[in-house]
Amino acid sequence: MNRINTVGIIGSGTMGNGIAQACATSGIRVVMVDIAQAAVDKGMATVAGSLDRLIKKEKITAADKGKALALIQGSTNYDDLKGAQLVIEAATENEGLKVKILQQLDSLLAPEVIVATNTSSISITKLAAATQRPDRFIGMHFFNPVPMMALVEIIRGLQTSDATHDTVKALAEALGKSPITVKNAPGFVVNRILVPMINEAFFVLAEGIATPEDIDAGMKLGTNQPIGPLALADMIGLDVCLAVMNVYIAEFNDSKYRPAPLLKEMVAAGYLGRKTGRGVYTY
Ligand code: NAD
Repeated sequence: MNRINTVGIIGSGTMGNGIAQACATSGIRVVMVDIAQAAVDKGMATVAGSLDRLIKKEKITAADKGKALALIQGSTNYDDLKGAQLVIEAATENEGLKVKILQQLDSLLAPEVIVATNTSSISITKLAAATQRPDRFIGMHFFNPVPMMALVEIIRGLQTSDATHDTVKALAEALGKSPITVKNAPGFVVNRILVPMINEAFFVLAEGIATPEDIDAGMKLGTNQPIGPLALADMIGLDVCLAVMNVYIAEFNDSKYRPAPLLKEMVAAGYLGRKTGRGVYTY
């Protein structure tokens, strides 16, 4: 099993900068690469702001912040990834783009380097097959916000080796996370269960069984969730929830995954949730 002391990250957006922060606060060196300097700067500023909030809450000291930031090198040059033992791809969710990035990494990285992807929806087996290192390729699915969320789903493609799995699991644990191991399948484990639950909440709402407030209160108080399914849909984006259901129905060809007509209607109306100021609730 390889010991990881330098992690490369592709993408400095929401997930990339969160993963960078989680690595750096665990003492792991990071090279975070994005296409534009402005994106890198924004990612670095987000990490600094997040560490400032942890100082305010007295979870870390100003010295800890300095140490963590010193471990993160922002870059727009893929060549800077050369010292990494593992590279986590966290670029925009687009299959063609990810394949292009993975092929670029293949020609750059030493053969023993492990490549992981943070994709939420693309097949790990399929992405692995597009690389020259299918046995050293794996899914490492972090949750947002990365520094706060304990879970990492480790997704084994059909080709992923045991050694790759064990190295990545050890890294997740070194980051203070609680990983679970999952086989490649649409939605992996958490989104496979979560998104159909949200979809069902839209059926319940459309049938007039209860108000949105009571549906959310019921699920919060009755199943000990911190947020109800309809409020969560507004946070995730109704369009994202619909897109995920459409993937399930296409992949499994099982009518139990049909998107709720109300969910489709609301997306068609542009009521996408918090990001548009209106979803199930108004913001
Ligand atoms: P984002 O849009 O916030 O960030 C993506 C970043 O990738 C952008 O900064 C973009 O400039 C950069 N990028 C695009 N092409 C690139 C290239 N060729 N090289 C380097 N960087 C490039 O997206 P995000 O929310 O951080 O999502 C990233 C990945 O994580 C996606 O695969 C997504 O499905 C997955 N994911 C997202 C969440 C979430 O809640 N946001 C949760 C789990 C997994």
